[in-house]
Amino acid sequence: MINLEKVNKWYGAHHVLKDVDLSVGRGEVLVVCGPSGSGKSTMIRTINRLEPIEKGRILIDGADIYAKGANLNALRQKIGFVFQQFNLFPHMSVLDNVVFAPVNIRKQPRKQAMELARSLLARVGLEHKIDAYPGSLSGGQQQRVAIARALALQPPVMLFDEPTSALDPEMVGEVLQVMKSLAKDGMTMVCVTHEMGFARDVCDRVVFMDGGEILEADTPERFFSAPSHPRAQRFLADIL
Ligand code: ADP
Ligand code: MG
Repeated sequence: MINLEKVNKWYGAHHVLKDVDLSVGRGEVLVVCGPSGSGKSTMIRTINRLEPIEKGRILIDGADIYAKGANLNALRQKIGFVFQQFNLFPHMSVLDNVVFAPVNIRKQPRKQAMELARSLLARVGLEHKIDAYPGSLSGGQQQRVAIARALALQPPVMLFDEPTSALDPEMVGEVLQVMKSLAKDGMTMVCVTHEMGFARDVCDRVVFMDGGEILEADTPERFFSAPSHPRAQRFLADIL
C-alpha cells in the first residue's frame, strides 16, 4: 500500500531523511517512534506529499506520488492525516467540519455526506455533539472530530502524527480507543506516537528512527523485549 524507496530529504544543508526504505502492507498498522528531531514528522508528511523530497520514490497503491503530473487531489483523498494540533475549522459546527471535504472536494450530494458524517461521529462517540462548535469541546473530543473528518473521504490509509501529544493525560485513552478500533477494522495506519502501550497492543511493526534514518523495524514483541540497536535500547530505557 505504501512504499518508500531510498527517500532522501534536505532542509538546506541539513540532511533530514537518509535513504529511508519502508513498506507498509494493506491493513498493516505501523508505529513510528524515536527522539525529537529524528525526522518522524518529515517522513510521515512525505507520504502525503506535504514535503518535497530530493531523492528516492514513494508509491501509494502502486502510483508514484512524486511523479510529474501525479494527481495531488486524488492522492490526498486516499490518505487521511491527523495532526497533533487538531486544526478544526473553528467557525463551523462539528457536523459541518466533517461534511466539508466530501461536499466541497469530492462533490458528494450533501444528504449522503451528512449521513456518513453522522455515522462517523457516532463511531467516535460524538453523535450528541454534532451541532457544537470546536471551541466548546475538550481536546480529546476535538481530536475525535478530526479523526471523523479525516475518515469522511473514506481513505484506505490513515496517517497520525502524535495525535495524543497535545492532550491532557485523561483524554489520551479516548483517542487511542478510536485508533484501536480503526486498526481492528483493517485500516492501513502509520502512527507517529510515543504511546508504547498502544504500540505493544495494537501495531504490527514498530519503526525506530534516529538522525533521519530507520535504525530498526520489528514486531512489538521483539522491539520491546530485545531492541538490537544501541540507540533504540537507550530510547526505550528513557521512555519506559
Ligand atoms: P520529529 O518529528 O522526529 O521530531 P522532524 O521531522 O520534525 O522530527 O524534524 C527533523 C529535523 O528537521 C529536525 O532537525 C528539525 O529541526 C528539522 N526541520 C523540521 N522541519 C523543518 C523546516 N520546515 N525547516 C527546516 N528544518 C526543519
Ligand atoms: Mg514530529
